[in-house]
Amino acid sequence: MSFPRSALASSDPPAADPPAADPRAANPRAADPRAANTGPARPVDDGELRRRLSSVQYQVTRCSGTEPAFTGVYWNHKARGEYACICCGAALFSSADKFESGTGWPSYTRPIRKAGIAYHTDRSYGMERIEAKCAQCDAHLGHVFPDGPKPTGLRYCINSASLGFSAKVPAPSDFDESIR
Ligand SMILES: [Zn+2]
Repeated sequence: MSFPRSALASSDPPAADPPAADPRAANPRAADPRAANTGPARPVDDGELRRRLSSVQYQVTRCSGTEPAFTGVYWNHKARGEYACICCGAALFSSADKFESGTGWPSYTRPIRKAGIAYHTDRSYGMERIEAKCAQCDAHLGHVFPDGPKPTGLRYCINSASLGFSAKVPAPSDFDESIR
């Protein structure tokens, strides 16, 4: 396991503001909430997200918010299946990699796809943490800490508000125990 010291020293800029609404907002199909669960995952526009997401889901994913511990719908969720980005539908985490961290947030040892997560240095609140975002749509998911259990030693501490769940069998993880 190699936790990335380079990530702590990088100079990534702080999280950007949500992107401006794009012209696809005028396309009625783009605003169809069923789209998140039907076709392939894809980026979505801010106007659609404001309409479709709850205020907590929007604040967490687009404004890097954090839901209060033990309040989300997935911290104690034990069903088998796949957790996907609430914004774009990209598959993110498997129930097979979920563990009880005691933190009050859903916690995973690894993502389904290594390339599915983007990492940024987060220096807010006087701390230096590694922020995990959806690589496809830039949704804030949570943070990654080097105190997780085997096999990776990592703890992906994720907001329930960033996730949707479906009871399908997730793809096997391609994660190789390093986030870089
Ligand atoms: Zn996404």
